[in-house]
Amino acid sequence: MALLCAACRHLPAGGLIKPAMCTVTFIARKNGFALGMNRDEKRARTAARPPAIEPAGGRRALFPSEPGGGTWIGVNDAGVCFALINWYAIKARVASQPVSRGEVVRLALSADAIFEAVKILGELPLKDVNPFRLLGFFPANRQIVEWRWNLEKLAPLRHRWETRTWISSGFDEPGAQQSRTRAFAASLRQRSAGDLAWLRRLHRSHEPARGPYSICMHRDDAATVSYSEVIVSSREAKMRYHPGTPCQSSKCFDRSLGLETGFAKADLACQSAVGLPLWQHGIS
Ligand SMILES: [Zn+2]
Repeated sequence: MALLCAACRHLPAGGLIKPAMCTVTFIARKNGFALGMNRDEKRARTAARPPAIEPAGGRRALFPSEPGGGTWIGVNDAGVCFALINWYAIKARVASQPVSRGEVVRLALSADAIFEAVKILGELPLKDVNPFRLLGFFPANRQIVEWRWNLEKLAPLRHRWETRTWISSGFDEPGAQQSRTRAFAASLRQRSAGDLAWLRRLHRSHEPARGPYSICMHRDDAATVSYSEVIVSSREAKMRYHPGTPCQSSKCFDRSLGLETGFAKADLACQSAVGLPLWQHGIS
């Protein structure tokens, strides 16, 4: 793909997306959605740039970025949001210099419908991209699709439009998933479940203890390095970005992006053609 420059294969280490863990929480709303994402990384990693509005194909998109230009989360002016987490269960890695996974989200952000995202992903040189799970949120039709790339096949999965979480961890993934799933399930019982204060509290929480298993993650060599929040309503997308560990960070960047067409632009025509299996549980 022309947009995927050859230089992306030779980014410095700081330009590659190699999250140690990540936690994504999605809140379904009557009109749109809210989403929070903790990004966990080595402490020595170069800091990312706060969210900015940039062109994405024929659209405009709002996203934080690595020094190399890639990103792990973004939302475009159709209200479509993508977030990328690693897929640690797959041990295979690209043999030669990989293409940055950060390019996947950046390029996908030009899509305003599932079929467009499928087309873009189909044009990527995925054989050179390490395993990932790409989450796509399409509010016009209340669709969530997760694309899983294992170096052999890109498998789409459709999730219900309901509040849920995704957890990825390079350190004892089953243990981290179990611990964070428990914290998420407990938090759902709170009266405030689903509001923004609840979402922010969840993403700076230290259950069962401040350390490698908590959603706000702390290790000697790595930590949650940022919290990103996307709120999409029928006319606007907002992104809030906290650099630093959520329990300590007071710095905050807020940006807004007007939606070009609201939710009027539906992609109903493509949905039956996608033929995705539906996952019924709320945690993965
Ligand atoms: Zn913390």
